[in-house]
Amino acid sequence: MTDTVEELAVNVLVLGAGPGGYVAAIRAAQLGQSVAIVEREYWGGVCLNVGCIPTKVLLANAQVASLVARHAKSFGLPDGLRADFRAAHERSRAVAEGRIKGVHYLMKKNGIRQFAGTGAFTSDRTLAVTASDGTNAVITFDHAIIATGSEIRSLPGVIFGDRVTGYIEVVLSETMPESLVVIGAGPIGIEFACVAASFGSRVTVLEYQDRILPTEDADASAELAKALKKLGITLVTGARVTSASDTASGAQVTYDSASGETTEIAADHVLVAVGFAPRLEGYGLDATGVFVTDRGAIDVDAQLRTSVPHIFAIGDVTGKLALAHVAEAQGILAAEVIGANSTRAMGDYRDMPRAVYSNPQVASFGLTEAQGREELGDVLVASFPFVANGKAHAVGETAGFVKIVANPTTRTLVGAHMVGPDVSELLPELTLAAGQGTTIDDLIHNVHAHPTLSESLQEAFHGLAGHMINF
Ligand code: NAD
Repeated sequence: MTDTVEELAVNVLVLGAGPGGYVAAIRAAQLGQSVAIVEREYWGGVCLNVGCIPTKVLLANAQVASLVARHAKSFGLPDGLRADFRAAHERSRAVAEGRIKGVHYLMKKNGIRQFAGTGAFTSDRTLAVTASDGTNAVITFDHAIIATGSEIRSLPGVIFGDRVTGYIEVVLSETMPESLVVIGAGPIGIEFACVAASFGSRVTVLEYQDRILPTEDADASAELAKALKKLGITLVTGARVTSASDTASGAQVTYDSASGETTEIAADHVLVAVGFAPRLEGYGLDATGVFVTDRGAIDVDAQLRTSVPHIFAIGDVTGKLALAHVAEAQGILAAEVIGANSTRAMGDYRDMPRAVYSNPQVASFGLTEAQGREELGDVLVASFPFVANGKAHAVGETAGFVKIVANPTTRTLVGAHMVGPDVSELLPELTLAAGQGTTIDDLIHNVHAHPTLSESLQEAFHGLAGHMINF
């Protein structure tokens, strides 16, 4: 029996149904384009299946476990309550499954043709789909949007196995190891360290740089390090991992300290979290003629156009800023350039909101204080601690602060760095103010509801103007 091959012509072909790809497909369909989307494994991407969403469920369960561990008495709960990791795992999978169904619903609602299979370009106008159910297709397109994401990086000397893995195996695991070594103190390493420690794992984080979350503001790194130590996490900075592999009873990691000393540690599991690299192989990119940068990403202009003008690329594969909401913003813009001749362009990626869903959270946008001083010469800085915020006391989470960096000449915001409860929710006011060029002198008059965590922003605005009220 020969498989049938469907032939289809569309205005827009989207390769990859992650947060960038599926959003781009919806926006293109809304603008009247005929759209096909091809996905081989994860509808909703790594984000919905094994990334952002399931990990946020695990983190929410972990936060309850940690709150109980720290405050059982004052919240009137019995001593010795222990949260069950299996329940966190089950809730995490159930939430992910629900969100994935939501993506299929949205595709259908917008009349987008879905192909579950592996897509490979055969030219700059055609893509062949090989589907597991035999419904192969050849799609010709006027425009394509490549949204193929990224894959995890490894390190020389690290041998992946049952006990040395990337994040996917840990997200999908039904149990928490008794001891966990995390290689890399970026967002993935830190988020998993928080989950594991809150469920009773002995956690050691090894970071090559001299501080955790090394790209964040130094004060935010230091504040988070303090909180993680309180959660019982061992942080080793200046640690260059040279090897990791399975052993008969678990796993073993070797690292060199900054002073050249070599240390070996054993653990039940090792999580390798040293970054992502754009995915360039396995989908016939060569056949399109699209340029790839020296740093191994698809080269795009400020409107996400590749070197082949009718082909666009969005998300992690562009190597710009590997965050789901950045991919979405790029996807919407690419669809609007294709479907509505938009003249908009992506701005400075440093101004995008960033968040690490640790316990407490870290959220930021724009320049760190050090970058501000280097680029502007001088900056205005104001910090307000959550220990002086009523709502933080009410919820029992007083660690952390908000710190805002402003340009002293224009009196507009150039960066903010926050550590504390749900601080990721405080970002939109700041990014809107920075994007619109709202001055400190106007921001101080924006009244914030009492009692809220957001009052800490109002205090920091007052601080920038030279007159903090409650601190
Ligand atoms: P990352 O690149 O953000 O961090 C990796 C860390 O590993 C760095 O701090 C680096 O210094 C360290 N490292 C590198 N080599 C090392 C070595 N030999 N020994 C010890 N440490 C070493 O990568 P990630 O945390 O794996 O995240 C991957 C991508 O996913 C990033 O782009 C990240 O922004 C994104 N992501 C973001 C979030 C979020 O924003 N909440 C969550 C998950 C993933």
